[in-house]
Amino acid sequence: MSNVKEDIISHQMRVYQLMYRLSKLIEERSLSHDASKFQPDELPAYEKYVPLLAAATTAEEFNKLKEEFKPTRDLHKSRNRHHVEFHENGAEGMTLVDLVELFADAVSGSRGSVEERIAKLDIPEVLIQILYNTYGASK
Ligand SMILES: [Zn+2]
Repeated sequence: MSNVKEDIISHQMRVYQLMYRLSKLIEERSLSHDASKFQPDELPAYEKYVPLLAAATTAEEFNKLKEEFKPTRDLHKSRNRHHVEFHENGAEGMTLVDLVELFADAVSGSRGSVEERIAKLDIPEVLIQILYNTYGASK
């Protein structure tokens, strides 16, 4: 076999290894998403506030409940790297895996529309567009 063919195959194997590694990281993250919500310092607040927030009938009531729930939400965000708040330098500290998880998290949320949830993400617009492209969705 020529050196060129060997080089191409070697290159293909390296690309395969790097892309496979990323796919495994995404798989691992998909299986552990929001696992901390089951911890005793998060679960009781989620069990209390999620139904109350869903049932809130006024913006005032909703905002009051949201404020009460905030310490637990902040705790959750501080221990889960798919949240921008986890990172000292915000979105710039995130990995592609973090971004993919964050986007999937926002898309699969239940409050408001997908577009509203995506718009609230504190990440650069170009990354949001790339994520839409990746998922084959349009804005
Ligand atoms: Zn989360």
